[in-house]
Amino acid sequence: MNGRAKSFFIASEKDIKSGKTTDVCFKKTVEILQKAKCSKQVKAEVRVSSLPENYSWAVLSGIEEVICLLSNLKANIQVLAEGTIFKEEMPVLSIIGEYTEFAMLETAILGLLCQSSGIATKAARCRIAAGQRTLLSFGAKRMHPALSPMIDRAAFIGGYNGVSVIKSAEMLQEKPQETMPHSLVLVLGSSEEAFRLFHETESAKKIVLINTLGDEKFEAIKAAQILGNDLFALQLDTNDSRQGNFKKILEEVRWELDLRGFNHVKLFASGGLDEYSIQKLNPVADGYGVGTALSNAPVINFSMDIIEIEGVPMAKRGKMSGSKAVYRCTNCYQTKVVSMQKDILPSCSCNGRLQSLLLPIMTDGRLERQILSPQEIRTYVLNQLGNMKLGL
Ligand SMILES: [Zn+2]
Repeated sequence: MNGRAKSFFIASEKDIKSGKTTDVCFKKTVEILQKAKCSKQVKAEVRVSSLPENYSWAVLSGIEEVICLLSNLKANIQVLAEGTIFKEEMPVLSIIGEYTEFAMLETAILGLLCQSSGIATKAARCRIAAGQRTLLSFGAKRMHPALSPMIDRAAFIGGYNGVSVIKSAEMLQEKPQETMPHSLVLVLGSSEEAFRLFHETESAKKIVLINTLGDEKFEAIKAAQILGNDLFALQLDTNDSRQGNFKKILEEVRWELDLRGFNHVKLFASGGLDEYSIQKLNPVADGYGVGTALSNAPVINFSMDIIEIEGVPMAKRGKMSGSKAVYRCTNCYQTKVVSMQKDILPSCSCNGRLQSLLLPIMTDGRLERQILSPQEIRTYVLNQLGNMKLGL
C-alpha cells in the first residue's frame, strides 16, 4: 500500500539536468571509464535513420530545451536551427566533448527532440493540408499536463495559429484561443442562454460551440441570430457516433447561414481530425481544432551516435563515421550531407548557392547565437513549407 497520493509522477528540471532520467547503462559506462582513467574527446551526432509513416521530411523542434539541458556543459555543440526541415540521415545536432561529461544526458537529449519534433512535424503537415485556414491546438487534454506547454509550443512553431491552454499561451506570449465547452451549455441547461451569456462576457473573437444539445443547423441559426455581426465563427465538435457525413453537415449549416445573410460567420471543425480529414473538409471549413493527432503524433526516432574519437572517424556498424556538414541550396532547396574530412564544398546541380545549416550554438559552454522566439521559428517553418512545396 502506498498510503496517500503524494505527488505527480514527473521528474524535476534538476533531476533531468543532473542525469537522473538517464538509462542506467550510461551511468555504469561513465563509472567504468572513470575507474579505468579513460578520458577521450568524442564527437557524437544526432540523426534519424528512418522517419515514421513514410514521411519524407520532418520539422526539428526541442532545440531550445536541449540548449537549456546542456547549458552547464563545457562542450562544442552544433545544431540545425530550430524549425529546420530535415530528412533521414541528416545530422541535426553534434557535440564534441569529453565523453563522460555528456554520456549521462543522451537519454534526455533524445527525449526532448523526438517528441517535440514529432508534434511540430504533424503540425506542419496539418498546415500544408489546411492552406491558409485557421489551426488551433487542442491537444493538451490527451497528455500529462506537465507537457502541455511543450505540446502547444511544438504545434505553434509547426504552423498552428493558436493554442487553447492558458500556461502554454503565456509561455508563447500569445492569447489563448478556444470556444466554450459543452459543459457550459449542459450546466445552464439551454443553448440559447449559453450563447447569450457568452455573447455578453467574451470580448475576443467570438467562436460559439454548437451541437451540444440540438441539431447543428438549428443551433447555428440560433447562435447567428443572437450574436449577429459579433459572431466570428461556429465550432462544430461532433461526436463520431453522430458525424455521419461531417462534410455534408458543414455544407448544410453553411447553406442555411448564407440563406439568412450570415455569410460572415466562419465554420470551425473539431473532433478526431488530422491532416487527411482536414483535406476532405477544406471545401467547407474555415478552421480546425486538432487534439489527439497532434499530442499523440508519431515521435521522430532520433539516435545519438559517436562518429569520431580523438578526432579520428569511428562509428558503430550501420552508421557513417566522421564529421559532416549539411548544406541546403538557396535556389532549389535540395539538401546535401557531406564529409568534412574531404573538405570540398559541394555545388548544387542547379548552380544555386549552398548554405551551411549545421552551425555552432555553444562553444566551451558559451552561447554563440541568440535563441529564436517561437514566432520567429514559426515564420521560418512556414517559409520553408511554402518554398519547398512539400506534399503530404
Ligand atoms: Zn539547387
